[in-house]
Amino acid sequence: MKQTTSTTFTIHKLLLSVSLFSLLWGCQQNSNSEDTEQTSDERQGPPNFVIIFADDLGYGDLGAYGHPTIRTPNLDQMAAEGQRWTNFYVAASVCTPSRAAILTGRLPVRNGMTSNKSRVLFPNSLNGLPPGEVTIAEQLKKAGYATAAIGKWHLGHRPQFLPTAQGFDTYFGIPYSNDMDKVGKGNYRALPEDSIRYEDYNVPLMRDTAIIEQPADQNTITRRYSEEAVAFIKAHKEEPFFVYLAHNLPHIPLFASKDFKGKSERGLYGDVLEEIDDGVGKIITALKEEGLAENTIVVFTSDNGPWLPFETHGGSAGLLRAGKGTTWEGGMREPCIFWSPGRIEPAVITGLGSTMDLFTTFSNMAGVPIPEDRIIDGVDLSATLLEGEPSPRKGILYYRGPEIYAARLGAYKAHYITQGEYGQFGGKEEHATPILYNLSHDPSEQYNIAEEHPEVLAEINAFVEEHKTNLVKGEDQLADRE
Ligand code: MG
Repeated sequence: MKQTTSTTFTIHKLLLSVSLFSLLWGCQQNSNSEDTEQTSDERQGPPNFVIIFADDLGYGDLGAYGHPTIRTPNLDQMAAEGQRWTNFYVAASVCTPSRAAILTGRLPVRNGMTSNKSRVLFPNSLNGLPPGEVTIAEQLKKAGYATAAIGKWHLGHRPQFLPTAQGFDTYFGIPYSNDMDKVGKGNYRALPEDSIRYEDYNVPLMRDTAIIEQPADQNTITRRYSEEAVAFIKAHKEEPFFVYLAHNLPHIPLFASKDFKGKSERGLYGDVLEEIDDGVGKIITALKEEGLAENTIVVFTSDNGPWLPFETHGGSAGLLRAGKGTTWEGGMREPCIFWSPGRIEPAVITGLGSTMDLFTTFSNMAGVPIPEDRIIDGVDLSATLLEGEPSPRKGILYYRGPEIYAARLGAYKAHYITQGEYGQFGGKEEHATPILYNLSHDPSEQYNIAEEHPEVLAEINAFVEEHKTNLVKGEDQLADRE
């Protein structure tokens, strides 16, 4: 009985906070609407872009994507006012190749960001994203954008591979995963929550090419990243800008600042997400205050699915199968929200999208030609974003390292190879007859319909074969280490 009363009270408080929040948000919009119009009129021209990229956040981790207890009111508001995509993919189910793809619009197999020997870069890795690759930042520099990378990079931490060598004017962040450079003893999974200390991970915090703090104080890192984004936006409000804000969290080890720790009904993982969401709110507020909301496109997504062996410290893929490291849907389908009031047509989009499409879409919106000396895998989503047209993307390739494990065409996905990861979901298995799912009917990948639909398998095979005829694999950049 006591439990029920307290739950009811919590729900009342929650509803009250949500209504207060909506009121405040509404007032702010009204009070700013006149300034907004004036400022937007003053600076016509290409839109600003803000990408907010979470680490290891799953398809089921946001309120707007159905999580029952994690509170993400700012992202939910963005989803309600903008577009919430439900079939949006990353190009790899682990950090490094996924990041290479979002920034270059290319499958990581093309630029050497896949390997049979290593799935990601490590602090003793010698290489990074090849300098000859063209990033979104380099594209937008051609149109005079100010560009900032904030947060996790993980595309090479040596000077020639850092963001400042890849089109970004500035960099502030931890250059790889927040669990690397571990110096503390003990197995993270076995440690009591209150004994997890940032001092046990000697990761550097960098400003441009210099280390400014080591170990980085990860308790405050999420807040500092969001504040850095707000400061950059305010400093560059008179010119077009691009902010790539790649949070190190909710990748384990989990840390949250005083204001958020112990607050979420979901526990520490929820605290972390609620702090990320709070930062999203600060960025949205800053854009509104500066009258930039209508001329800025904000995108929120994540680099790969949840890291499930970490149990309650990992996220949730919701109704999708498996998680990080695999080519099941839980590893590679992510929440993706696009927001720009008056510009993005509010909708739920069930068509296909990929992080690689941001390269092509943003380049076109900024009036910068797409490079013609290389294959770009992104397609232009502008007509879907701005006019609600069906997505032009027809298919998805699910690479694991340099190998294709699965392919999706329309609603159908064929698995040629299946393999679990981190001791879960089974060993590597090649399928002489691929497993076929209709993901529109069966998003959890439960019911193999290969026998009933040989014609669908033939179409998917042709799609994969066509891709392979143009494929030149890049030289492995991940294997070499000190
Ligand atoms: Mg990740």
